[in-house]
Amino acid sequence: MPAIDWPSVHAEALDIFGRYLRIDTSNPPGRERAAARFLGSVLEAEGIRCEYIETQPEREILVARLDGDGSKRPLMLCNHTDVVPVESQYWTVPAFGGEVRDGRVYGRGAVDMKGMGVMQLMAVLLARRLALPLTRDLVFCAVPDEEALGRWGMRWLCEHRPDVVDVEYELNEGGSGSDEFEGQSKRVFAIATNEKQVCWLRLTAVGTPGHGSFPHPSDSNSAVRLARAVQRLAEWQRPLIFTPETTAYVERLADAGLLPTLRERAALDSAIHRSRPLLAMFMNTLNVTMLQSGIKANVIPGRSEAVVDCRLLPGQSRDDWLAEVIERVGDPNVSVEFHEDLDPDEPVPVAWDTEFYRVIEAVIHDAIEDAVVVPGMTVGGTDNRFLRQRGIPAYGFAPCIVSSEERAGFHGNDEYLTVDNLNLGCELTFEIVRRMCS
Ligand SMILES: [Zn+2]
Repeated sequence: MPAIDWPSVHAEALDIFGRYLRIDTSNPPGRERAAARFLGSVLEAEGIRCEYIETQPEREILVARLDGDGSKRPLMLCNHTDVVPVESQYWTVPAFGGEVRDGRVYGRGAVDMKGMGVMQLMAVLLARRLALPLTRDLVFCAVPDEEALGRWGMRWLCEHRPDVVDVEYELNEGGSGSDEFEGQSKRVFAIATNEKQVCWLRLTAVGTPGHGSFPHPSDSNSAVRLARAVQRLAEWQRPLIFTPETTAYVERLADAGLLPTLRERAALDSAIHRSRPLLAMFMNTLNVTMLQSGIKANVIPGRSEAVVDCRLLPGQSRDDWLAEVIERVGDPNVSVEFHEDLDPDEPVPVAWDTEFYRVIEAVIHDAIEDAVVVPGMTVGGTDNRFLRQRGIPAYGFAPCIVSSEERAGFHGNDEYLTVDNLNLGCELTFEIVRRMCS
């Protein structure tokens, strides 16, 4: 393989990144067609074939492909082209300017996730220019609508074009490197291998309506019964749950001296309980988010409702969880059921310790000597869930070292990615592709 002139690749990536950030793809409404066409024009200029798939007016999915020799199944690099809206009054730089200041590239989408889109784009361009002999197809996929549940993006693609997502592995957002772990200075890289599943529940208490001026047994006041049920859920002490990947997570961080070991279980448990981000990885969470009761000051409500936002660990069944919640509520006059907006399909946890995971891990270790690499879990949702539902090991990983200040840009103000991170991400993404595909 000829040597790569990295300084010129970095300059090219920076130029593309700036132009990409200037395309306003705020979702709603999205209008990601311009972004798909922009990325596609860069690829087509080098003879890479692109397909544009319209899912709604002005919204397109871009799929570009480099053919392999077919000895292995495809690898997909995937990113989303939409961004969350901007409250421009809180920004000190133009949100769609793509300005570079003090080694930082500013703009909505810089970290979420146009920067990673450019890293993936550069990896495909380099594979083409270097004429890498590919053992598998390399698929570049840029989708709209990730920020609004993926209905016109990845979910649409999986439902309507299963041929495109017929891949062995996929790489998307969801994890990254960090320069600290729980306040301890260390470079820790989390490769997201699974994510929690949303399990919203609705509680409905029924009682006997009546006049507010007259003594009323509290047992037959639906608001009182609902309040008791909610209180029981709030006080519920749930155990920590270890999955195969969070066990590996603890082992690796313990080896690096960043967490107590599994044998020091009491110390480990209290370290987890002290940190909300950690606790979210080891526990099914439950938060009461909506309460509704009563129509008038002098009417005892016959019906009261609550919505509870539960997030379950990978591998936990929704039905089992529902049964546990019903038992905890313990009141036949309070029914508990799944919320009507719940995803119809339950996600399937996928294997984490695969060829692809090990390649990513090795690339990080070779580039960054003291790196700690752990399998991570995304607590929120990403497009990876649609691929995992199809049994595809879809990993979330931006190969950058994102500081906590940079991380605050996710859906925040003055979002930026450092030029150093853009450069590192381009180099590592290409190396991951090179090792996986050639
Ligand atoms: Zn994102």
